[in-house]
Amino acid sequence: MARFNKRVAMVTGAASGIGKEIALRFAAEGGIPVIADLNLDAAQATANEIKSKHGDAFAVSMDVTDEAQVEKGVADTVAKYGKIDILVSNAGIQIVHPFVDFPYSDWKKLLAIHLDGAFLTTKACLKHMYAAKYGRVIYMGSVHSKEASKLKAPYVTAKHGLIGLAKVLAKEGAEYNVTANVVCPGFVRTPLVEKQIPEQAQQLGITEEQVIKNVMLKETVDGEFTTTDDVADAVLFFAAATNNVMTGQSLVVSHGWFMQ
Ligand code: NAD
Repeated sequence: MARFNKRVAMVTGAASGIGKEIALRFAAEGGIPVIADLNLDAAQATANEIKSKHGDAFAVSMDVTDEAQVEKGVADTVAKYGKIDILVSNAGIQIVHPFVDFPYSDWKKLLAIHLDGAFLTTKACLKHMYAAKYGRVIYMGSVHSKEASKLKAPYVTAKHGLIGLAKVLAKEGAEYNVTANVVCPGFVRTPLVEKQIPEQAQQLGITEEQVIKNVMLKETVDGEFTTTDDVADAVLFFAAATNNVMTGQSLVVSHGWFMQ
C-alpha cells in the first residue's frame, strides 16, 4: 500500500518551490495534498498539475498570518475530506538588510509569516488531529534554525523559534499521537533564493558568483545546492513515522553545512 494512502496533508506555501515539491511527493505516494497559499491562481495550477498526474489535490486561498483565512482553509479541508492528518508549515519569505538599517515593518512582516503562520495553522489543525488521535506536524526550518548569517536578523530569529515551537507541540501532542519536527535545509534554488543572490551581492559588495560560492555554499562539504527533492525526502520521512519515537527533533539537510 502507498505510504500516505489517503492521508490529507496541508502544505502551506505549496504553490511554489519546496512546498510544491512536497505536495507533489505526497500525492505520488497516495496522499491528498492541500495546497494552501497566498497566491490562489498558482495554488490552483499546482493542484491541477497534481490531479493530472496522481489523483486528488485541493487548493485553498490562505494568508497564514490571517487567523480567519487559516480557520476557513482548515474548515474547508475538513468539510471536504473529514480530516487533516499532516501539516507542513512551509510558507515563508526572505528579507535581507544589515541589522542597523532593518526596517521594523520588515522585521514584523517576516516574523508574522514564519512564526504567526506556524502557530495559527498548527492551532487550527490540532483540534482535528487531537479528535482523530493522529497528526504529523513538520515545520520548515533552515540551517538558519541553528546557525546565523549576516543580513538575516528576523529570518534567523524566526527559524530558531520554530524549534522551540516544535518542542512544545511534541510534549503537548504526544498523548494524542501528534508528533512535531523541524526540517532544516541548506540553500535550495527556489524563487526565494534566486531573489536573494543579486540582493546579497549588492549589500555585501561582491559578485553574484561570489555570493553563491563564498556565502551560500561556502560551508558545505562539496559546494552543492540542496534540492527540493532532498527536502521533500526529509519531510516525508517525519510524516510517515508510525509512533512518537521521532518527535521534537530537527534534521539538517544541507550537504554538511552546520554539523551537530
Ligand atoms: P518560494 O518563494 O519558492 O515559495 C514560498 C511560497 O510561500 C510561495 O508560493 C508564496 O506565495 C507562499 N507564501 C508567502 N507568504 C505567504 C503567506 N503569508 N501565506 C501563505 N503563503 C505564503 O520559497 P521556498 O524557497 O520554497 O521556501 C519555502 C520555505 O522553505 C520557507 O519557509 C523558507 O524559509 C524555507 N527554506 C528555504 C530555503 C531555500 O534555500 N530556498 C532554505 C531553507 C529554508
